[in-house]
Formats: sequence, structure tokens, C-alpha cells
Amino acid sequence: MSTASNVPAGTVKNQFATEPMTLAFDVTVSAVQELSPNFRRVTFGGYSLRDFGVHGGTLDLRIKLMIPSLAADGTYLPLPVFEMEQAGWYQEWLAMDPAIRGSMRTYTVRYERLDGVYPEIDVDFVMHFDSKGDGGPAANWALNAKPGDAITIIGPNNRAAHCVTAEIYSGIEWRPGLAQRILLAGDETAVPAISAILESLPADMTGHAFLEVPEAGDFLDIKTAADVEITWLARGASIGRSRPHGQLLTEAVKSAVPVPGWVGIRTPDGAAGPEPEDVDVDQNILWETPTRMDTAAIGATKNPGMPAGAMPFYAWIAGEAGVIKDLRRYLVRDVGIDRKQVAFMGYWRQGKAEL
Ligand SMILES: Cc1cc2nc3c(=O)[nH]c(=O)nc-3n(C[C@H](O)[C@H](O)[C@H](O)COP(=O)(O)OP(=O)(O)OC[C@H]3O[C@@H](n4cnc5c(N)ncnc54)[C@H](O)[C@@H]3O)c2cc1C
Repeated sequence: MSTASNVPAGTVKNQFATEPMTLAFDVTVSAVQELSPNFRRVTFGGYSLRDFGVHGGTLDLRIKLMIPSLAADGTYLPLPVFEMEQAGWYQEWLAMDPAIRGSMRTYTVRYERLDGVYPEIDVDFVMHFDSKGDGGPAANWALNAKPGDAITIIGPNNRAAHCVTAEIYSGIEWRPGLAQRILLAGDETAVPAISAILESLPADMTGHAFLEVPEAGDFLDIKTAADVEITWLARGASIGRSRPHGQLLTEAVKSAVPVPGWVGIRTPDGAAGPEPEDVDVDQNILWETPTRMDTAAIGATKNPGMPAGAMPFYAWIAGEAGVIKDLRRYLVRDVGIDRKQVAFMGYWRQGKAEL
């Protein structure tokens, strides 16, 4: 995979330019930092990153990491090289032996420092490992990452973004539109995204942010100008005493967004909204994100059908797919929230590798 390669893979081309929206960036590890017992920050640097970025904050900007495979002697195999301007490179890559081609995983840009002489981005990896100590290619790679290690990142081409705002770049899902009251909820994999979103918010934004993490040592510092109440939830330090994944998050969301009092009185089936169609999270990705919630989406006024003083609401929810699926059912069916107002994203699936 070469540094300046374009990454079409059915690549969406910017309608205003001939530039591809995404590029492949060859980078090396500049630094590794233990943030907490279960978070490890890896800083990636490279001159190729001069072409990286979106215009505006990175928010929940997702990128793909190409993780090299380990050879028998414990060194990493070189990543395969593709002509990424050729459509079909991704299918070709998929067809290769995973032991040789490496793995592709999705992560969030936590910080970017792209204006300096040597551009860098930070990615915060969750250190998740099973009872045998295996975490999957990305967690294993991050555990052993050291300065000088090379990988390839697939991310936004800033030249294509010259007339495209972060709000419509497809790697960013945070689209609150006119909402002034928000709900952010996620597990540890969503902490980098929620943190970056909170840091971008204006002072007049209100609401709640719930972040569920393995243990209290994983509570990280987040600064925000917004009037959003940030609540960290710790499942517990040891496996024996740990609460099940998503239980605390689900309870917190339910207490912040309760079922309206009239449900069950006015509706025959006791629901406030339609039953959302089922998603088999073992077979499919749960990814339901609305387009920007603006006046066109919510009606002619900023606040249709709502009492005076009520503010448009937007929720962004990400984490383990089964947990997110249950929260989707609760918010859409039991509470009756309009799906145009909520982004539901399964960031990973229990017992399933990303690819
Ligand atoms: C848009 C987006 C942004 C994301 N941003 C981040 C980020 O910034 N930081 C981050 O750490 N993750 C992030 N993730 C989640 C990350 O992509 C997955 O956790 C991914 O599966 C990790 O790859 P792996 O190679 O370590 O494990 P895989 O090979 O994919 O999975 C191996 C095993 O580990 C399990 N597993 C995977 N992730 C976890 C976990 N977190 N906890 C417990 N078990 C797990 C799987 O169920 C599977 O059984 C993001 C995902 C998406 C879709």
C-alpha cells in the first residue's frame, strides 16, 4: 500500500472535485502512552498526513487501520501494496489469505496535530483481551506498539474536503443539526468519539453523556464548554465482580430518557412508537444514522409539536451491537423517539471479529 495511493474501493468521489474522498496514509508510531488500565494511546506520524483531515473538528471521525500480520519469527509481514485508484482493490485484498494480508479495523481519531512540521494523530485503543490473552489483531498490535512501527491508515483526503464540511463527510456521524439538548452514550470503544464530540460543543448545549468503561481507573479527563452532565460508569475492576457489559449504560439511558407517562394508556400495545425492524447483529452491522437534523428534517419550525421552551433533541449512541440494539428498541418503541433524532451504531460485536 503506497503512501500517496488513492483509496476508491467504491470510493465516494467528492461531487465538486475529482479528488477521491479517502486516501491511504503510510505512518509510523511516534509515541505510545498508557492512559489508564484499559486505554493505550498510540500517536501516528508521517509526512503523508499533510493530506489528511476534514475541515472542522474531527468529532467522531472514523478511520481504518491496516494492521500487519505477524510472521512466525514474531516480526510483522509487510502490508500488501494495492493500486487504490483501481476499483476492486478492496475485494482483491479481502480474497487474500488473512495470515498474509493483515487485518483492517475501524478506529476514531482522538486528536490531530496536522499543522506542524511533522503531522500526527492520536488513536486511543481499548486493551481488550480474552482469558487466553488474545485481543484480536488491533488490540494485540497496540499492546506491542513501539516507536517506528509502520502501518497504513485509510482516512479523509483534505484536498477533497475543501468544499465539504465535516458534517457531510461520510466518516463523521455526529449531526445534531439544530438540537440544543443531547444524549451521548457509549461503552469504552466510543469514549474517544464522545470525548472529541464533547470538546467541540458550544456553551449553550445541554444534556447528558454516559460513558461505560471497565473500571474507575479508566475515567479520563474531558473538557467541555457545554452544559452537558458527564457521567462515567465503571463495570468493576475484577471479572468476578464486574457488571455485565452495557447494563449500567442501559440503566443510565433509561433514567435520563424515561418512558412517557401516557404509554400503555393511549396505545393498545403499550408502545409509544413503532417497533423498529429487527437487526440480526450476528449477521449484520447495526448502523442507523440519520442525515443532518435541520429544519427540513424536523419540520418548518425549530420545534414542531413541542411545548414552548422545549428544545430539539438529538442522541448519539455507540458500543457493543447487542446493547445498542436493545437501546434502539427502548428509545424508538418504548419512548417513541423519532429515528431522525438518534444515531445508533454497533461499534463491535461480542464474540465476533470485525472482519
Ligand atoms: C466507527 C468506529 C469507531 C471505533 N473507534 C474505536 C476507538 O477509537 N478505540 C477502540 O478501542 N475501538 C474502537 N472501535 C471498536 C473497534 O473497531 C473494535 O473493538 C474492533 O473489533 C477491535 O479489533 P480487534 O482486532 O482488537 O478485535 P477483533 O479481531 O475485531 O475481535 C476479536 C474478539 O474481541 C472481541 N472484542 C472486540 N472489541 C472488543 C472490546 N472493545 N471489548 C471486548 N471485546 C472486544 C470481539 O467480540 C471478538 O471476539 C470503533 C469501531 C467503530 C465501528
